[in-house]
Amino acid sequence: MGEQMKKRNQILIVDDNRDHRKSLAAIFEGDYECVEAANEVQAMEILERQATSVAVVILQWNMPILDELRKHEVYKCIPVVVSSTRDEMEVERRCLERGVWDFIPKTVHPEIVRCRVQNVIQKSKIDVLQYDCLTGIYNQQAFYMATKEMLQRSKEEFAFVHFDIDRFKMINSFYGAKEGDRLICKLAEAIVQVMKSYGQGTYGRINGDIFGICMPYRRKEDIVQVVKRVEEKVKSCVTHYCIETTSGIYLIEENHMDVSVIFDNAAIAAGRCKDHHIIHESFYTKEMGEQLVREQKIINDMDEALEKEEFVIYFQPKYELKGLKPCGAEALVRWKKADGRLIPPGEFIPIFEQNGFITKLDYYVWEHVCMFLQGEIAKGRDPEPISVNVSRVNLYTPKFMKHMVNLVKKYGIPPKYLNLELTESAFCERQTEILEAVNHLHKAGFTIMMDDFGTGYSSLNVLKDVNLDILKIDMKFLPAGESDVRSKKILEAVIQMAHSLDMPVVAEGVEESYQVELLKELGCTYIQGYYFAKPMTEAMYQELIYGTSGVDGIERPQGT
Ligand code: C2E
Ligand code: MG
Ligand code: MG
Repeated sequence: MGEQMKKRNQILIVDDNRDHRKSLAAIFEGDYECVEAANEVQAMEILERQATSVAVVILQWNMPILDELRKHEVYKCIPVVVSSTRDEMEVERRCLERGVWDFIPKTVHPEIVRCRVQNVIQKSKIDVLQYDCLTGIYNQQAFYMATKEMLQRSKEEFAFVHFDIDRFKMINSFYGAKEGDRLICKLAEAIVQVMKSYGQGTYGRINGDIFGICMPYRRKEDIVQVVKRVEEKVKSCVTHYCIETTSGIYLIEENHMDVSVIFDNAAIAAGRCKDHHIIHESFYTKEMGEQLVREQKIINDMDEALEKEEFVIYFQPKYELKGLKPCGAEALVRWKKADGRLIPPGEFIPIFEQNGFITKLDYYVWEHVCMFLQGEIAKGRDPEPISVNVSRVNLYTPKFMKHMVNLVKKYGIPPKYLNLELTESAFCERQTEILEAVNHLHKAGFTIMMDDFGTGYSSLNVLKDVNLDILKIDMKFLPAGESDVRSKKILEAVIQMAHSLDMPVVAEGVEESYQVELLKELGCTYIQGYYFAKPMTEAMYQELIYGTSGVDGIERPQGT
C-alpha cells in the first residue's frame, strides 16, 4: 500500500475549456503533476493507462462521467472534486449527493482551491488505508482494529465468523475475474445489510473471498441466523450457476484475545466444513484446535524422523487358506517415537498425502523392503513376496515407474518378490494416467493388487480396464455376524467374479473363526487378519517363517 501511495502524484483535470484547465493546473504547479483531458473519452483513456498514479480527479460540473467513475471497480477509489463555473446551491447539492468529495464554486480563491484539494487527497489516503477498494467496507487491518476496540470496550459475549464462498477460484476461472469481483461485492453488500439490521458488530474483508464478522450474541441461534441471512442474500445474486458458502464460527472465550488468534480459530472451524463438504456452518471446538496442533507437530517432525529412521516397518503375514501356511506379508509403516510410542499410519499418512511427503516415505519403505528381501536372497532363501502400499500421490508422479524399476534393479531383486498394493479409491480420479502407470508396472513384472476393494466407487469399471493380479477385499465386506446373510451373498459373488477373471482374492481384516470358515467355504485364496497374526517386527516375521513357532498359523504373535 505504501508504494502505491507514493506513486499517486497526479491530478487529472477534466474540462472542455482549455483556459479553465490551465488555470487549475497553475494552482498545483510544483506540488503535483497535472494531466489534462478535454473530454470524457480522453479522461477514461488516461485512467486506463495510469489510474494508480492519479490522486484526485477535478471534474467540470456537468460531465456525466462522474457516475461512471463512482461505479467503476477500480476508479471508484479515486476521489472526485467538482469545479463549477456556477454558484448555484442546487448544483452543489446534486454533486455532493452523487458521491463527490468536494465542490469548488467559481468564486473561490486559488489558494483555497489548493487547500481543499489537498485536504481531499489527504483524507483519501487515510480512507484507502482503511477501506477495501473493491467493496468499500473495512479492510483487514481496519476491521481488526475496530474489532479489538469493540471487544475491549464491552463485557458482552462475542462470536467471530469466518465467511467465504466455496471453490471461489473455480468461479473466477470459469466465469471470469469480473464475475468473481461482482460476487465479492455482493457478499460485502449482503454482510452490510444483514449487520445493519442486526444493529451491532464489526465486519470487513480479510482477503480474496474471505470476510470476517464479529458480533455480540445472546444465543447461538442469533449467530446462525445472521450467517444464514447473509448466505441467502448472496445466493440470490447468482442465477445461472450454484454457489455454496462456508462459515466457521468461533465463540470468543476472552475479549482480550488477539484478533488474529480469534480469526485463526474461526478459520480452523471453516476448514472443518471444507473437509466435509455438506456442512456449511461449523463452530470451533477445542478438539479441532488440538487436532491441528497435532498435525502441525507431525509436519514439523517428519523430516528429522525420516533421517533418524524413526519410521519402522512391520510385517503382517498373509496366509494361504488351504494349508493355513504363511505365504508372504504386507509391509506396514509405523512411526516409532524416541520414547518408544508407536504411531499408527492412519494418523500421519493422510497428512503426508496432502503435503507430498508420502512420496519420500513410501520410497523409504520400499527401499527397506528391498533390503530385507536382498538379505533373504543372500542367505540362500527363496523369500515369500512382500507387498508394499503405494499411495495415490505416487501414481500421479511421472517418475514413480522409473523409481520402482530402478529400486529392484539396485538391490538385484526379481520384481515378482515385490507386490504393489494400490488402494481402490486411487482409481477414482485421473483414471487414464493411473491405468497407464499400472499397465507399465505390470509389464515390468510387478504383481499388482487392488487394495481395499469395495470401499471406492470405481471397482468394477477398473477391473474391466486394467491388468490387476490380486484382489484384496476390504474388511468391511466381511459379514458382521454369522446371521449376516446379505454380506455373505455379496462376498460370495465378489469372490466368484474375481475367480472368473483369474484373480486370487485376499480377505483382509479377518478376526473371527466363523469368518475363516466362511472364506474357506467360498474358496477365498489368501487371508490376512488379526485372527492369524497382527503386524509384527521384521525379526518376529523371520521367526514365524523360518523359525520353529507359528507355522501352523494358529499361534498369534503379539504385534500392533
Ligand atoms: P491397508 O493397506 O488396507 O492395511 C491394512 C490395515 O488393516 C493395517 O492397518 C492393518 O494393521 C489392519 N488390519 C489387519 N488385520 C486386521 C484385523 O484383523 N482387524 C483390524 N481391525 N485391522 C486389521 P495399519 O497398519 O494401521 O495401516 C492402515 C493403512 O495405512 C493401510 O491400510 C494403508 O492404506 C496405509 N499404510 C500403511 N503403511 C503404509 C505405507 O508404507 N505407505 C502407504 N502409502 N500407506 C501405508
Ligand atoms: Mg494395503
Ligand atoms: Mg486394505
